[in-house]
Amino acid sequence: MASLVRKKILVKGVVQGVGFRPHVYKLAVAHALAGWVKNDAAGVTIEAEGRLSSVKTFIREITLKKPAAARVDSVFVSAVAAAGEKNFCIAKSGGKAAASAIIPADLALCPDCRRELLEPSDRRYVYPFTNCTNCGPRFTIVKSVPYDRPATTMAGFKMCPDCLAEYGDPLDRRFHAQPNACPVCGPSVSLEWAGRSLTGLPALEQTATLLLSGRIGALQSLGGFHLACRADSPAAVKKLRAAKKRPHKPFAVMVSSLAAARLICSVSRLEAGALSSPEAPVMMLRKLAPGSFPGAAPALSKLGVMLPYTPLHAALFRLLEKKGFTGALLMTSGNFRDEPICKDRAEVKARLSGAASFSLFHDRPIHNRVDDSVAYEAAGGLRLARRARGFVPAGIKLASAGAPVLACGADLKNAFCLTRGGEAFLSQHIGDLSEPRNQAFFKETLANFRRLLKVSPAVAAHDLHPDYASSALARALPGKKTAVQHHAAHALSVAAEHGLETPFIGLSFDGTGYGTDGKIWGSEFMVFKDRTWRRAAHLDYFPLPGGDAGALETWRPALALVRNAFGPAWRGPAGRIFSGVPAAKSRTVERMIEAGLNCPATSSLGRLFDAFSFLSGIRGETTYEAQGPMELESVYGPAGAAYSFDVKKVPGGYLVDPAPAVRAAVRDRLAGRPAALISAGVHKGLAAMAVETACRLSKDTGIKTFCLSGGVFQNRTLLELVTTGLERRGCGVYANRLVPANDGGLALGQAWYVLKGYRQAE
Ligand code: ZN
Ligand code: ZN
Ligand code: FE
Repeated sequence: MASLVRKKILVKGVVQGVGFRPHVYKLAVAHALAGWVKNDAAGVTIEAEGRLSSVKTFIREITLKKPAAARVDSVFVSAVAAAGEKNFCIAKSGGKAAASAIIPADLALCPDCRRELLEPSDRRYVYPFTNCTNCGPRFTIVKSVPYDRPATTMAGFKMCPDCLAEYGDPLDRRFHAQPNACPVCGPSVSLEWAGRSLTGLPALEQTATLLLSGRIGALQSLGGFHLACRADSPAAVKKLRAAKKRPHKPFAVMVSSLAAARLICSVSRLEAGALSSPEAPVMMLRKLAPGSFPGAAPALSKLGVMLPYTPLHAALFRLLEKKGFTGALLMTSGNFRDEPICKDRAEVKARLSGAASFSLFHDRPIHNRVDDSVAYEAAGGLRLARRARGFVPAGIKLASAGAPVLACGADLKNAFCLTRGGEAFLSQHIGDLSEPRNQAFFKETLANFRRLLKVSPAVAAHDLHPDYASSALARALPGKKTAVQHHAAHALSVAAEHGLETPFIGLSFDGTGYGTDGKIWGSEFMVFKDRTWRRAAHLDYFPLPGGDAGALETWRPALALVRNAFGPAWRGPAGRIFSGVPAAKSRTVERMIEAGLNCPATSSLGRLFDAFSFLSGIRGETTYEAQGPMELESVYGPAGAAYSFDVKKVPGGYLVDPAPAVRAAVRDRLAGRPAALISAGVHKGLAAMAVETACRLSKDTGIKTFCLSGGVFQNRTLLELVTTGLERRGCGVYANRLVPANDGGLALGQAWYVLKGYRQAE
């Protein structure tokens, strides 16, 4: 008779809340093994006893056949004494081992649950809280580890006998699905409008009716509230824009299915995959008709589209469809001016009641507020503009480990980063930290992350900017502090995600970042070598009249650049370009430039882009960040020659003068050439300048690896032109994939800076 062995197996990674124990249980039973499996603070621990060959196959298949949403990082096996058990069971969670369990991110409604939801004979027909081990809420409802129902906001719901039977049946899709629920025992919705209220299915029906009638509603979702209305109702959209004080900023829409998305936008395979993935982000898709959705995304070629990612959304769309509506709902975060997304009834009443004429609440509390993630396809890959729901709190693997670090990010699009061992955990998108409510959100989230990850960072990294709220938050923490230059952090965020530890050249094309000389940087070419960095090339400084205060008036940097480019002659024909600007305003700005008053010097490529968007005739005043450049990219067509830039050799590197490109743009504009042609000149010209400067630096340093980051590289056209330009010259090009290229990914670079011990070269 073959002898029996018993092994203890420790599995780490994303292994809790993703159906991992049922998976192990089924495998153990299939291989006739005895023992147990349980969740603990380290991950999943298994003891398995049986014939040696069976145990070996079992261990292999734990990883090989893992559930779709799981991620196995390590499997550690040790021998223990045989116990002579007969059965295999799922044991109670517990243990206080090294805390390295990872909470899974929220998972979008899976196809099985969706099928049940839409099946009239199913007991969960249009039930807004159906879920299983493959889908449902996770991070948004978890309060502590290990991830079990009592540690979530589902603790208050007692499962009914039917749900309990599913939960206890190893062969059921809901075996140990912690948020398992049904209409009998689970959470429910309630609708409040005009002093009336309804609950359950009638509430959903009435919500559909109210939306159809063109009203705006606050809908409780997974990580917060949405403000929603019909995307095809100009009156509703106008009212929503007025309430949110967002005259033009694009809003996302939700449509019922992939097929519905294809009716309004072109959808590539990669985009379709992302839309239907468990992360289910808002995808920036190209509109089929350029002028469509003038309410949701005015003057842009792209539209943010998402699919119903919760059963509540899917049920609502089914009911809308039954009433004959197959269009899109505009869905925007339930917040104002970059405040945190509202997460409970009291916040909605206090903050959203002016905008929404009805509210659809539910009673499964949101513990961690999380916004929708936003993604786009560029240069052959999926990239994130906002990293939140579906991605947080999944860790990012680092090439090497170190003592825990907290990196506080920057003030705009804030997200922080905590490292533990060889992994980096980015917080969800927190927003603009100049808003005090977001500072509270930062602190609330940091406390949650520290509790879930059980980590006490010894070092706090922050931006070099002395006046940033993020820097102040870091300084208020105990322990060592390290200030990291903004654009060094951008470039290093790419190196961190791609595990690059060799020398590289970073191109940080950005809006704003504090430089070591106190000026505003943003077009930096930096050499990273031997754990030092140095700035080797950049745009020549130009004055930014009014500084950040004037950031939305794109004619301000344009005026400064045109003066530089034309000299005293600028008042001639070139001056006509500013005829739309009130004369008193432009005279004031002129005097500011002449006197050097409130005119910080900048090398910002973002501001140069703003200026070009003005010169092309697109608009002089914008209402949201990067509106001009986004509209300029929207009219890009491949016809048209590149504008030229002057790349001059200076001690230690290069200085780029944009004057020839500015003169060319002005001439084209005065000649009445279309904005598409100017857009081509700008995009191709900037890309050619970037490639030329990069290649000259490559020749000087022998480095052929490039990391592209910074908010400007969210411009798909520019990213693709620079990438192909460098690749054609035999260079290796890397850009952000796992974290945003904008300041939302900055904290990862700051953390990597500290972990690797970088400093500025002498
Ligand atoms: Zn499911
Ligand atoms: Zn039930
Ligand atoms: Fe930045």
